[in-house]
Amino acid sequence: MSRFLKDRYSKLEVYTPGEQPRDKKYIKLNTNESPFPPSKGVIKAVNKSEVKDLRLYSDPTGTALKTALAELHNVKRENIFLSNGSDDILNFSFMAFTEKGAMFPEISYGFYEVFAELHGIESVKVPLKDDFSIDPKDYIGDGRMIVIANPNAPTGLCLSVEEIEGILKQNPDSVVVIDEAYVDFGGQSCYPLIKTYKNLLVVQTFSKSRSMAGARLGFSIADEELIADLERIKYSTNPYNINRLTTAAGVAAVKDNDYYIKNCQKIIAARDYTTRELEALGFFVIPSKANFIFAKSDKIGGEDLYLKLKENGILVRHFTKEKIKDFNRITVGSQKEMEAFIKVTKQILEGK
Ligand SMILES: *Cc1c(COP(=O)(O)O)cnc(C)c1O
Repeated sequence: MSRFLKDRYSKLEVYTPGEQPRDKKYIKLNTNESPFPPSKGVIKAVNKSEVKDLRLYSDPTGTALKTALAELHNVKRENIFLSNGSDDILNFSFMAFTEKGAMFPEISYGFYEVFAELHGIESVKVPLKDDFSIDPKDYIGDGRMIVIANPNAPTGLCLSVEEIEGILKQNPDSVVVIDEAYVDFGGQSCYPLIKTYKNLLVVQTFSKSRSMAGARLGFSIADEELIADLERIKYSTNPYNINRLTTAAGVAAVKDNDYYIKNCQKIIAARDYTTRELEALGFFVIPSKANFIFAKSDKIGGEDLYLKLKENGILVRHFTKEKIKDFNRITVGSQKEMEAFIKVTKQILEGK
């Protein structure tokens, strides 16, 4: 760190992304990426002529991609905001809607806390219930922005659309951000509620169910006034926030929606298989509606299992926070990867 950095940034506790090691080939079950490639249409769209056109700026209005997403969700283009990964939308929300502070679950996506710190926002961290679920009654923000991942990470547990609506009703003066990064794996999106609730901001991403983590593409669905607020911030930071290749890939991915729905079904089947096998090995598994499983065993500590899996070429995610340190978060990959994971886990438990 140099002596020139402002105090408020030098004290930041930055977000730690999951490992992306280069030393050898791992079975990567640590960052919730898709095991499947992007659709054929996406691969075709990122073609030579698109690459040649990289000399030109991308379309700052994002009209083509907004049109595709608006059609898919039966909303207006003005209800869609595009961003460089959904992390950017979360960042913008913490900049834009937190006059009175923020509120989010104590155990959730780690970035919420980082954004709050980054922008010097006072935040309330609400404990989960003993069974790791979120109690909607705990969320009365009194004007604070409320942020909830649904399904939550790293638990994989969901609130119903009715419960989300309850939170919206009891917080008419707060923006309620529902982060639906994992909604395609068995949850239900609450975006139809934007027609009734002007304070709802739904955030989704192409990183998980759409096999495009490396392209960095996220989007929001909300009332046009909230979207206009986000656009103000975008035009004050980086108007060309979506690059040309990602835009082309995004449009093609929306066209190939059926392919991604099928992939999600494969992930759900592999998730069910992995849950059953882990339970048979004596693990406690939180029932997940996401493309990951949060599990612990009385026979081995969370960190110990993480390290032994890594020695054996399998990466999972371990968090050191006291309340969840016994657990590991295991991304659901292909059926073959999950069979390998179960086999190695069995061997570790048997002490081989
Ligand atoms: C992965 C993830 C994101 C960020 O996704 P990007 O679009 O890749 O930035 C946002 N929220 C949650 C809960 C996530 O797990």
